[in-house]
Amino acid sequence: MRGTLDALTSPLWKIDYETRNTRTPFTLHRNCLGKAFAVISDRHPTSNPKDFNERVPRPPKCGQLHLILGPMFSGKSTELLRLVERYEVEGNSVLVVKSALDERYGVDSVVTHDGKTRDCVALPSLQRLEEHVSQQDLAQYQVIAIDEAQFFSDLVEFCLEAAEKRGQTVIVAGLSGDFRRLPFGQIPNISALADTVTKLSARCSRCNEPAHFSLRTVVDADTTLVGGSEMYAPACRTCYNALNIHSRE
Ligand SMILES: [Zn+2]
Repeated sequence: MRGTLDALTSPLWKIDYETRNTRTPFTLHRNCLGKAFAVISDRHPTSNPKDFNERVPRPPKCGQLHLILGPMFSGKSTELLRLVERYEVEGNSVLVVKSALDERYGVDSVVTHDGKTRDCVALPSLQRLEEHVSQQDLAQYQVIAIDEAQFFSDLVEFCLEAAEKRGQTVIVAGLSGDFRRLPFGQIPNISALADTVTKLSARCSRCNEPAHFSLRTVVDADTTLVGGSEMYAPACRTCYNALNIHSRE
């Protein structure tokens, strides 16, 4: 707001009242000035930052979103369960879910390659979680951990709802890319939304160098083909290029 004295002797102030989009000149008597300021600052609290902070209620605190990425055999589930244990030790209640597409080690448990296990809810989509946990019970969890997250087509919607509406901490573990080294499911979208991204590497099955890619060792073009070491091997860039038999087309 900008006020200019029309003339020293004039009882009138000319005021150009500016908002971001409009500019409205008006004139008022000097005695009314205080009242006008009060009205304007009430309608547009940003004209007084101190008032703004006091009047606008604080929004509910958001949670956090953490992404664990890596190729197959890089220890994503191990890292996920390590964080789950840590949150539980700190007194948080944690719900673990995974994709029902992955039945390699047991339908209702997350099992790491080194044999650790943890009960979980296996789901074809995150929306179906409501069949197992009521909305009220879901809101009671402080932490939600999601394994094999690349298979969930509603991953972004669920994570935003949990972290930004329910204020929960969400830990997502998923493949950094598919066997063609293309983005897998909604994992790249989660990367753009995450507070932290931890990228893990495996050991190349051929040369033992750090491996960042999942090499499919059988001829099959299905992106969602789930398997273990009989179908996939971790590979460094050099070995991936030497051994890969699938095109990116
Ligand atoms: Zn290698």
